[in-house]
Amino acid sequence: MKKVVICLMTVLMCLGLCACGDSKAERSFFAMDTYITVTAYGKNGEKAVQAAQELMEGYDALWSIGEENSAVSRLNRGERISLDRDTSALLDRSLEISHMTQGAFDPLMLPVMELWGFTDKHYAVPSEDDIKKALSLTDVQGLHLENGTAYLTPEGCKADLGGIAKGYASGAAADMMRKMGVSSGILSLGGNIRTIGEKPDGSPWRVAVRMPFDEGFIGIVEVRDKAVITSGGYERYFEENGKLYHHIIDPKTGCPADSGLMSVTVVSGDDTLADALSTALFVMGKEQAEEFWREHEGFDLILLCDDGSLYITEGIKDDFTSDMEYEVISNR
Ligand code: AMP
Ligand code: MG
Repeated sequence: MKKVVICLMTVLMCLGLCACGDSKAERSFFAMDTYITVTAYGKNGEKAVQAAQELMEGYDALWSIGEENSAVSRLNRGERISLDRDTSALLDRSLEISHMTQGAFDPLMLPVMELWGFTDKHYAVPSEDDIKKALSLTDVQGLHLENGTAYLTPEGCKADLGGIAKGYASGAAADMMRKMGVSSGILSLGGNIRTIGEKPDGSPWRVAVRMPFDEGFIGIVEVRDKAVITSGGYERYFEENGKLYHHIIDPKTGCPADSGLMSVTVVSGDDTLADALSTALFVMGKEQAEEFWREHEGFDLILLCDDGSLYITEGIKDDFTSDMEYEVISNR
């Protein structure tokens, strides 16, 4: 994968590591277009962080759109590819969540990303005609999964799993580390945080959610064994004529989503869901995100709107602290 640092700032910071005597193993590396830090406490820590690195580098080699021979690049060149277990699971979930979000999550958004220059950094605001053409290639029905293979139609359709792959990776790495005996740990992949168990001193992990375009943070959420995954326009963008154009595309318009949200954080035990939803709910906006939360289980939300207002969902109300004023969204 191209060694491009998309986001120098870690979007979420992990606060308050343990003060007890458990041995700590930690490793930082660059993969999946982001700096990753994996930390494990306990006996098998060293082996586990090494294995986590190998796992994520393996995913990078499979799913990177910057790597000519990755499975996704071959798929995007029009090949019918044989699916390994992880790519199959990831594509299945991508389709499932695309349907669940009525297309707000769209894993075939690459033609539009390319048009805006997000893939090669040759940024430009495209013409309406070009947007229309690129959008005609983004219908998820173009992704065919058949008998352990995948292919795309029509010609020109291209997959981009950048909105979901890191979530899948952190979930799989955490599962593997747990199986190796790690009962306490934390993985940080840019705006994605995954915690394993609790801190070695028995207290919950404290994850700070970054304030967009700022050094500070929105608040802190305390979690055990959960992913805390944030999407926002501030992570990657360019400026033209005083206007910011960011990298999360509204599939209805082919333009950067302008839904009134500045950032969406999803807290969930399911990393893949959390990653895809953070992107999709950012596209949907606050009202629809709220509605979606009421209709589905297994996650909570922290929503920061463009006007600075902050909302959290009921499920994390006892685990969230902030210096800002915020409103709790309840089930009814
Ligand atoms: P995230 O940081 O998880 O919100 O993912 C953003 C990335 O997802 C972008 O850089 C694109 O690669 C991809 N993407 C952009 N718009 C969408 C969309 N509407 N649905 C799915 N993936 C998207
Ligand atoms: Mg995402």
